[in-house]
Amino acid sequence: MPELPEVETVRRTLNSLVTGKQIERVTVSLPRIIQRPDDPQQFALELQGHTIETVERRGKFLRIVMDGLVMVSHLRMEGRYGVYEQNEPVEKHTHVIFHFTDGTELRYKDVRQFGTMHLFKTGEDLESKPLMQLGQEPLDPEFTTEQFIRVIGKRKTMIKPVLLNQAYVVGIGNIYVDEALFRAGIHPERIAGDLSEEQLIRLHEAIVSTLTDAVAAGGSSIKSYVNGQGEMGMFQHSLRIYGRKAQPCYECGTLIEKTVVGGRGTHFCPVCQPLPIRQKH
Ligand SMILES: [Zn+2]
Repeated sequence: MPELPEVETVRRTLNSLVTGKQIERVTVSLPRIIQRPDDPQQFALELQGHTIETVERRGKFLRIVMDGLVMVSHLRMEGRYGVYEQNEPVEKHTHVIFHFTDGTELRYKDVRQFGTMHLFKTGEDLESKPLMQLGQEPLDPEFTTEQFIRVIGKRKTMIKPVLLNQAYVVGIGNIYVDEALFRAGIHPERIAGDLSEEQLIRLHEAIVSTLTDAVAAGGSSIKSYVNGQGEMGMFQHSLRIYGRKAQPCYECGTLIEKTVVGGRGTHFCPVCQPLPIRQKH
């Protein structure tokens, strides 16, 4: 599943490709992608004639901002966008096509069919589901150490699932949570509320630096992830813990371990990220 850096890469690419384009009509061939309004024909009808002003992001959701409307799109597992000329053949698994007045098309392709689109009037999307339930934006200047400690510091559950919970901090998924915890030297099974202030400060820094570095590299291309222009992100070459099971830790040489935390495959270095004796299994 794309995480914040990948969605941010898609956002930047799409923003450069579709801003200023006017929608002539919309074709929906898989109604279940459209979550709001209930009727996909109405979704298509409402979008007609609107011009894309900018593409923004909230957590892992794209916000396609138009004159009077906002379309909120989540790629989930395999969703991806591409801009094509209208005479180019439509690839398999293309479920929604935004036909523009200039003869180009924004096509949404989704092999797994888990992606979603919600359409709102301007000003309504941030106050409605699914965006209203989202927590802090980690690359926002308002995401301060104090804010982070206030939200995370008292939780009585393991730190990894806390960081994956989009109600607290948004955009961090299974890859970047392992990377950030490794950078901070914190075991993924530590209880959030047991972490010292110094550790929480380190973790906050690690989250911001990991995501910032990944955005700068265009995200990670693991499996088949490709951004909006078909370019591969490069951050997978900078991953220091994720996917490195049984390989030596770059910091200390100990073999990296893989376990399951909160139902998710989890990589950690047992030396750099120690678990306190009282918490050992
Ligand atoms: Zn190590």
